[in-house]
Amino acid sequence: MMDDIIRKDLEDIKEIVKGDIFTNKKVLVTGGAGFIGSWICDCIIDFGAQVTVVDDLSTGKIKNIEQRIKQVQVRFVQADICTFKSDEKFDFIIHLAGHASPDEYQAHPIETLQTSAVGTFIMAELARKNDAPILFSSTSETYGDTEIIPTPETYWGNVNPIGPRSCYDEGKRFAEAMLMAYRKQYGLDVRVPRIFNSYGPRLREDGLYGRALSRFINQALTKQNITVYGDGKQTRSFCYISDTVTGLLLLATKAEAIGEVVNVGNTQEVTILELAQKIKEITKTESDIVFYPLPKDDPKRRCPDTTKLEKIVAWKPKIELDEGLKKTIKWFAE
Ligand code: UDP
Repeated sequence: MMDDIIRKDLEDIKEIVKGDIFTNKKVLVTGGAGFIGSWICDCIIDFGAQVTVVDDLSTGKIKNIEQRIKQVQVRFVQADICTFKSDEKFDFIIHLAGHASPDEYQAHPIETLQTSAVGTFIMAELARKNDAPILFSSTSETYGDTEIIPTPETYWGNVNPIGPRSCYDEGKRFAEAMLMAYRKQYGLDVRVPRIFNSYGPRLREDGLYGRALSRFINQALTKQNITVYGDGKQTRSFCYISDTVTGLLLLATKAEAIGEVVNVGNTQEVTILELAQKIKEITKTESDIVFYPLPKDDPKRRCPDTTKLEKIVAWKPKIELDEGLKKTIKWFAE
């Protein structure tokens, strides 16, 4: 059974996104068992798409899509996208597979680079052979430790090419370059959202997979110390999942997004310490906030300029952090 919080959020997304272009279309979703991927699958299945999910379950969870893969129009293939082969005809490719959690991708730097580089090459080829549009999940990390806040798409980035985060950052930058090359050389319909920190139900909180926000919620709910890195003055701008998915699907459905790189994120910037305090307040936990060393090359500030998104899709993410946190905490508590 799908829980009420997710069901209600899906209704909100479908009120804004007109998904007719997906009706009866064959859509390949890589990383469809992951956090963002599973929400995308929920929506496009409801729009009437025939969905093939490819996921190796290295970071995604079958639980996220187990109800969906029982539906006749959904097929699940457990496979690494770097070796994925298919003669099937796809009408649209949504390519989201990747390692997104800093602790996890730094533990698997080669796989992280391969997924972005080899995996994106394979998906671009498949898109070209099928003459299908491809939407690829890029990231705010292409900007690295940005010098411009809010950061527009025109900023080229400040990335350490040999630092601990380079496997993720440079992998995604390579993937963007690859897709733009396919656009230039073959005229492929490529769409590249750069996704800023997203959160909500299904964001993993466990082990190396946990992100700051989901870890803090889990720590607060289980009365463990809340582990803030550094002095907590570094910032992030957290975007609630239904807003992220609305942005991605609007970009998938609007012709104005073809060949474009577009920031998708919320512009409400907070420090990590403020985030920890908010979670402490909402959960009324007895947990203490404790401080650990800041990881190397951790970006100091992150906040998107969403002017281009607003121009292309006439919409911007709007769920306030407090509201999104309350929903997410409720979901984790249940
Ligand atoms: N962070 C933290 N405690 C944790 C995990 C992360 O203070 O237990 C910090 C991390 O160093 C970063 C911010 O919180 O400054 C956001 O981390 P997240 O896991 O969301 O990944 P990032 O935005 O760095 O990709």
